[in-house]
Amino acid sequence: MKVSRIIAIGLIAAAAIICIIFAAGVSPAASHETDSPPEQDEPTRAELVTSALAAAYPRRVEKTEFREGTGGAIGDWAVLIRDVWYYYADGKLLPEELLENANDYSPIPFYNYQRELPPWREPSADQTARYRERGSSSPRNSRRRSPHFFDALWRGHDRDEAYERGKSIRFLGHTVTVHYGILEELALVEEHILAAAKTDPQVQPWINAINEIEGWSWRNVANSRSRSYHSYGIAIDILPKSLGGRETYWLWASERRPDWWNIPYEDRFHPPDAVVKAFESYGFVWGGKWPYFDTMHFEYRPEVFFLNGMDLATLR
Ligand SMILES: [Zn+2]
Repeated sequence: MKVSRIIAIGLIAAAAIICIIFAAGVSPAASHETDSPPEQDEPTRAELVTSALAAAYPRRVEKTEFREGTGGAIGDWAVLIRDVWYYYADGKLLPEELLENANDYSPIPFYNYQRELPPWREPSADQTARYRERGSSSPRNSRRRSPHFFDALWRGHDRDEAYERGKSIRFLGHTVTVHYGILEELALVEEHILAAAKTDPQVQPWINAINEIEGWSWRNVANSRSRSYHSYGIAIDILPKSLGGRETYWLWASERRPDWWNIPYEDRFHPPDAVVKAFESYGFVWGGKWPYFDTMHFEYRPEVFFLNGMDLATLR
């Protein structure tokens, strides 16, 4: 009797242990979203980018999900805008019918962007070689950035359609045409700049020195086949009456200085820090932080901040 009782207790204990192991093994899987790719624990770049886009443009991106592939194709993360799915496709964000031509396009840069301007450092030999190579390559040979996602996002597939989205506003005393979708953000940026002008001695002189502000302009990025964000009216250039001998744009600078990448910050025209912060805190990246610097340029790309772990409100 005693032996059979010990066996029974043993069996119950073994069953309990098996149950615990089984439960431990199953529960993380059970907590996965049903539309996640299988056997994927860490979010992929595709998931991170599509989620950042959904968070950045909540009124424009309707949905983001992992879409199963058809006909043996592997699935991909995608975002839905006005009934069309744009697949991540290594950062190209292409509609389904263009996935087979993905090689025709270069990815949209969802680049590293730092909270503070990093200290000036001379570029490495590798970096210098890349700058030199880009300077000598013909734009006709380069692939263009896929425009499909941003065309749909801002509803500007061609010049006329993009022009329809423009509104002319007064900004820091100048007239500028921008997309109607960023009017409130720009009004708030202006409010912050004007508030900063009361306390920061650099800001009012910078405002007074503005010669012109350019927003909407249907065009490609200079020296490339990629559509500029000015085409949608979500980028603005703020140019002073005089650059005072400093440089503002790498391409213009390269005509005077073939080694434009060696131009230190003090020789570049930088807006006051408070101005850059005002723009950034409403989702505008500043071109002065790009290696291919464009210090007059601000562009509305809130997803870039999200992908770099920045909450806009903390930038104020
Ligand atoms: Zn610009």
